[in-house]
Amino acid sequence: MEGGCSCGAVRYRLADEPLFVNCCHCLNCQRQTGSAFVINVLIESDRVEVVAGEPVSVDVPRDDGTVQRIYRCSNCQVALFSDYTRPEIWFVRAGTLDEPASVAPDAHIYTRSKLPWVTIPEGVPAFDVYYDSKTLWPPASLARLRAAFA
Ligand SMILES: [Zn+2]
Ligand SMILES: [Zn+2]
Repeated sequence: MEGGCSCGAVRYRLADEPLFVNCCHCLNCQRQTGSAFVINVLIESDRVEVVAGEPVSVDVPRDDGTVQRIYRCSNCQVALFSDYTRPEIWFVRAGTLDEPASVAPDAHIYTRSKLPWVTIPEGVPAFDVYYDSKTLWPPASLARLRAAFA
């Protein structure tokens, strides 16, 4: 899978399948995107090959006092990836993929702040806040996560 920013300066390629795809309805993501939710492709950061350009990171405060590091194109400022204090795992914004339809959420999270007109498809796990990765992620993804954190 490949993707990039709006001006074309930054291009990236995912060198592996996503670990998991989250659709997050939290207030931080709503504010950051100016939209109803964000779709994050979780993948090891060393599996994201930046093939053009150099994304710049911006530390963005979150409501819980933590900081989310967001990587943007230095030219057009589109946000491409972020991480949450663990740089080993990047959250690739699925809307920046050349084919956003190539992924679909494996889970919806923070539905406690989901906008009321958003309907979650039947059969997709949804959580008021977060979930236990150990019970929800495929074993192969958990193994990759352990390896990334090792
Ligand atoms: Zn750009
Ligand atoms: Zn969120």
